Order: sequence, then C-alpha cells, then structure tokens
Amino acid sequence: MSLFENTLKQIEKAASIMGLDENVKRILSVPQREVEVTLPVKMDDGSLKIFKGFRVQHNNAAGPYKGGIRYHQQVDMGEVKALSAWMTIKCSVVGIPLGGGKGGIIVDPKQLSLGELERLTRAYVKAIEPVIGPETDVPAPDVNTNSQIMDWFSDEYSKIKGKDLRGVVTGKSLGAGGSKGRNNATAQGGVYVLEEYAKTVSLNPKETKVIIQGFGNAGGVVAKLLAKAGYEIVGVSDSQGGIFCDQGLNVEELTSCKIEKKSVVNCGGAQCKRVSNEELLEQECDILVLAALENQVSAKNAGNIKAKVILELANGPVMPEADEILDKKGIVAIPDILANAGGVTVSYFEMLQNADGKYWSEEEVNPKLKDIMVAAWEEVSANSKKYNCNLRDAAFITSLSRLEKKIREKGLV
Ligand code: NAD
Repeated sequence: MSLFENTLKQIEKAASIMGLDENVKRILSVPQREVEVTLPVKMDDGSLKIFKGFRVQHNNAAGPYKGGIRYHQQVDMGEVKALSAWMTIKCSVVGIPLGGGKGGIIVDPKQLSLGELERLTRAYVKAIEPVIGPETDVPAPDVNTNSQIMDWFSDEYSKIKGKDLRGVVTGKSLGAGGSKGRNNATAQGGVYVLEEYAKTVSLNPKETKVIIQGFGNAGGVVAKLLAKAGYEIVGVSDSQGGIFCDQGLNVEELTSCKIEKKSVVNCGGAQCKRVSNEELLEQECDILVLAALENQVSAKNAGNIKAKVILELANGPVMPEADEILDKKGIVAIPDILANAGGVTVSYFEMLQNADGKYWSEEEVNPKLKDIMVAAWEEVSANSKKYNCNLRDAAFITSLSRLEKKIREKGLV
C-alpha cells in the first residue's frame, strides 16, 4: 500500500466514525494540483545534472497551501501527495487558516557541495515560481532542508518578482525574516501536547524513560527539551543506527558528539549497546518518540513495541495496520497531525510577522504556541471520548469537521 493510500485510509476511517459528508470526503481525497519539474544544475566539475522535483497543493479551503520541502533520494510523487494531505489535515487540527502542500526533490544532499545545493534550490524556485507566493503557497523546511536553503529560496523568489517577498517561505534564518522559536517549534509543540497527556495519567517525568528515533531538527531538539524537563533519555538513533543506554544518556554531550563524530552510533561510550534502527524501537522504555521518517511501525514490529506511549514527531511513522495492534495492546499513539503541528504553527507566526514587518520575541512566540497546542489537545481528547476512538481518529475528526465547514462555506457541497 502506498503512503497516499495510507492517508486515504485514515481519512476514510475517521469519516465513517463521524459521518462526514461523502462529497467533502471526495474533495479531500484528491490533491488540487500536482506539479512535477525537471531541474538542470551545473555541477562543480562543469557537468550538467538534471534533477526531478515536485510540488503538490492538496487543498486550500482553509487558506494558502503550506508545507515543507524535502530533499531525499527516495522522494516520489506518492510520498509528496501523502505529506501534502497530512498538511491540510494538520493545519485544521490546530485551527490555523492554512491549507496543505508539500514539495520535494529527488537528491541526496550529502553528495552535493554547498554551491551545488544552492544552484539546485534556485533552479527549483524558478521551476515552481508560477504556482507559489506569500498568499498562495508557502513552503518551509522538512527532511534535509534548513534555514540556509529557505534563505536562498526567498532570495531567488524575490529576485524573480523584483521585490522583497520574503513571506514566500518560512523557516528562514532570523536575519532573513525568520521567527524566533521556529527551530524548536516542532519539538516544543510535541512537548506541550505530551505534558497535557501526562497530566491525564499522572506521569512523573523523573520515572519516565524515553527512546528517540531520529536525531535531527525534531528529534535532537525534543531530546534536549525532555531531558530539561527531567525525562530520562535511554536510546537514540539516526540514519546510521542507534544506541541504547539503560542508565540514561547525557543529551548535551550526545549533541556535541554527534556534530563531531557525525552519527550517534559513535557516541555514548562503553555502557551503551549499539543497536540497529529496528532493534531500537523494540527496547524497554515508557515513551517512544518517532522523529525520523514514515512507515517505521508496521504490522511486523508493532507487536514488539514495549513503550506505553508513542509521540509522533515524524509524519506518518505508524502505518494504519499497526494502529490496530497498538490499540489492542493499549499503547497510546499521540498522532503526527497533532504532535508535530507546532512547526507549521510557528511558520504561520512567521507569515504574520513578515506581513506586518514587526517581529516577536521568543517569550511571545512560546505562550502563543502553547495556547494553540493545548486547545487542539483538548478538542482532540474530547472527540476521542465523544466518539470512543483513538487519538488519531479523534484528531482526524477534529480536523475534518472544520474542513467540512470551510468547504460548505465555499458552496462546494
Ligand atoms: P532532519 O533531516 O533534521 O532529521 C531527520 C533525522 O532522522 C536525522 O537524524 C536522520 O539521520 C534520521 N534518520 C533518517 N533515516 C532514519 C532511520 N531509518 N532511522 C532512524 N533515523 C533516521 O529532519 P526533521 O526536520 O527533524 O524531520 C524529521 C521528521 O519530522 C520528518 O518526518 C518530518 O516530516 C517531520 N516534521 C518535521 C518538522 C520540522 O519542523 N522540521 C515539522 C513537522 C514534521
């Protein structure tokens, strides 16, 4: 089953629980626009390489399309379609006036020099420029893209249009119009939701062991925030593999070690066990944070998960067939469309600041983010009780109810 089919299955399930209008479901089951582009790029050795890129605009009933750009060797149109649909759903879970989009380029950016990466990014902007803009479609960072890439993006778009249109993209560096708090936003939003969940089960951070899959933007930051809140981080991984350390890991040391030695597998010392990514997910812990890529928990390994709670900072890390197994085992999955919505929420704040020309302090950003995340959690958990369903179905129901209203207001159904 493709990733997009997984997304449709999730929409289908929530739609049948809540009794969603059939035509609303049909509208949300197809992206509004799918763009595929070819990107000729001069390489440092003088040769020409042609890359392939995508931008999918899933739905804009709630507002301009919004969603990240992924640079990865395995990106394809199906993946981008799924990610764009999750963006539509996610923005409406947290009730921000944005729709869903996503983009990607088939490339392993680690194989490119900085100059090649910049030329590739600028070629992508030229290719998708006709369909994006600060009020139509606003990209952002995702896997393997960062504020430097967003700064090139914004600069190229503004050059093409002949004016300062930095609001075309979010996740920029602070000097180029980025928002304070954006770097931490995805992880911080997930922690706010986890704190609300923790209150309902009287969870004590000091007695709670956490494993984190993925040690990039989302995973690396969540490790720091959870360690600061007193949680014990006992395992981490990145694309090279993982380490498990029952006595706990020092996150500060781990962060510097990862920078110096390139991968967490080279860190942690002799008291840590080296494990594969698959093995890490099955180690003893209380909370498993998934912060890498999609399809990590399937019907094959769901039965072996020992955590009591899964916090999904990645998009689509748990497959639909795994959900049933987790439900039976009583493992609570705090779903991606709620848990990682902090990133797009602060991206929305960045859009507001760019439009207004006035910039907020981190002390202003974080309480606003917290209010939105806590309100979304309250609605999702109320729907979970009302419909007697898991948190994923409840998050979809929360979102689909809002989208149904917007689509009706437009007179489409
Ligand atoms: P990133 O590129 O900064 O980090 C990804 C991390 O995952 C890296 O440490 C990489 O080595 C690791 N990784 C890759 N394959 C792995 C594997 N098979 N097993 C274990 N680790 C692996 O990306 P990110 O921005 O942190 O994004 C991670 C996930 O979070 C993605 O699913 C992304 O869509 C989602 N997300 C990110 C944001 C954001 O603001 N960055 C917002 C919402 C959702």
